[in-house]
Amino acid sequence: MSKVFLFDLDMTLVNSGALSILRRAQLWNQVKANLHLVKSFPPSGQIAPHDLPKLLRKAGHKVGIVTSSPKWYAEEIIKAFAIEHDVLISHGDTTNHKPDPEPLNAALKALGVGASKEVYYVGDDVADTEAAYHAGLTSIGIGWGLLTFSAVASAAPDLFLGDGSLLLRTGEFDGFGYAGEVLTSGRSFVDHWGTILRCESDPQVYALGRYFTASDPRHGASALCTAVLSLKNNDTHAEILGQAVGRTGGNLDGWRPRYIVPVPPKPSQNRNRFEKVLVTAKQYLPESVNILVDGLKCVKEVAGYKQMNGGERQEAIKGAFATGYNWHGNDVLLLDDVYTTGETVKECVRVLKASGAGEVRCLTLAGDQRAFIHKQCPSCHRSMKIRTNSQGQKFWGCSGYPHYCQNTENL
Ligand SMILES: [Zn+2]
Repeated sequence: MSKVFLFDLDMTLVNSGALSILRRAQLWNQVKANLHLVKSFPPSGQIAPHDLPKLLRKAGHKVGIVTSSPKWYAEEIIKAFAIEHDVLISHGDTTNHKPDPEPLNAALKALGVGASKEVYYVGDDVADTEAAYHAGLTSIGIGWGLLTFSAVASAAPDLFLGDGSLLLRTGEFDGFGYAGEVLTSGRSFVDHWGTILRCESDPQVYALGRYFTASDPRHGASALCTAVLSLKNNDTHAEILGQAVGRTGGNLDGWRPRYIVPVPPKPSQNRNRFEKVLVTAKQYLPESVNILVDGLKCVKEVAGYKQMNGGERQEAIKGAFATGYNWHGNDVLLLDDVYTTGETVKECVRVLKASGAGEVRCLTLAGDQRAFIHKQCPSCHRSMKIRTNSQGQKFWGCSGYPHYCQNTENL
């Protein structure tokens, strides 16, 4: 079936990293003088990303390029890399820009198609994911242009692809999601680089999918959220979550742990929510991976932890965990449910390392997601963005700042 693919340009189809500072500062004369610094990305899965639009069109799909760069710039790049497309939407074509959905809506209008989940927006940035969400499209994140993953993980795309050739396998998109999301919703799972979400690099933290809070409209439709919540009280979803852990935990970016240890229950809880999960996981893990359900113990009850911010959590959780083992330099994978501020993970890693563990990484069932809020400026109707002032305080600022509008509002 014919689909519609919209693409971001910079750092998605071409590597314009050398010009990113000049582009951000809107020094377009200097950008113009240095266009030769824009390079193609190395072939990903034998296909150079800038060739993807051509191959998708050949397969009968429609392709649009949607960029926040000026038209002359986009046209120069498109010409230099022979990027095929049916429509181009650039900065001057709309009043609002990503993460506002207006540029994506303009592309759909020009193509004569309506918004649906069968329309994909492919990009490297959180603003791309957010714009696709507001427009009602499926967001596809790409791994080849990214330097760090933590920003993307906190507002993750619907699909995350590290290999461009996967884009051509349109019939299999249902199985390309995050392992936890695909398996809990009963679909068959395709193993690839984007099956796990890379949340943090120090320590390395992975998630099996996205966690949407109850106030996020995506919460109710997420089978993974339902499964993670139910695991607090019963084992209804333990087997399917165990399968997700087992099928990913033995090979995390080529790394294999010797032991898997869950974050332990509080002293007041007598049920270890990961016990059944790990029984199933064991069936899918390589023989050499051992499970130690009692690898860590919680020795201190922390009251009101959920309501604390990161700094308060860090203080409160000190001394909460202990281990009765000497880990003799072995690598340990720590298992937790939802990754939020990461303070629990950091403290567990500290305790394990102090008792001789080698490398410690963490696998969580879900990574907490930032809610996408679409806010319009009451004075000029442009979209508003969360900005940070020189004192580090966050506020809503109009995207028309500084030339068109100076409106701000408290967050
Ligand atoms: Zn405004």
